[in-house]
Amino acid sequence: MSRYISELIKARVREAARDRCGYCQSLQKYVLGILEIEHIIPTAASGSDDEDNLWLSCRLCNGYKGMQTSAVDPVSNQTVPLFNPRTQKWSEHFAWSEDGVYVSGLTACGRGAVVALQLNNCPFAHF
Ligand SMILES: [Zn+2]
Repeated sequence: MSRYISELIKARVREAARDRCGYCQSLQKYVLGILEIEHIIPTAASGSDDEDNLWLSCRLCNGYKGMQTSAVDPVSNQTVPLFNPRTQKWSEHFAWSEDGVYVSGLTACGRGAVVALQLNNCPFAHF
């Protein structure tokens, strides 16, 4: 089933996301292909097409995310809600390595997302 999201809403989401992937932070100008409008709560998990459930994602992060809505923190083994790029601040949950190549999680949510979305396998993650 194809879903309809208006061009106006897509433009507003792109602007709110500052033209970067909400997960690995890749800027549109460094990504081959266009960043995708993604559903923060996947439609398969009853997520809506409403603007507050939409964000920008690169194809890799969106692909790894799939239908996941939670992740397991590899330190505490707790299941935590998946990072929400619309309501949570990236820099509170993640940090770049000093050389800018790797992302590490600062919180249970951040660590869970690094694993669930394979953020360090993303070839764009060093941008
Ligand atoms: Zn990404």
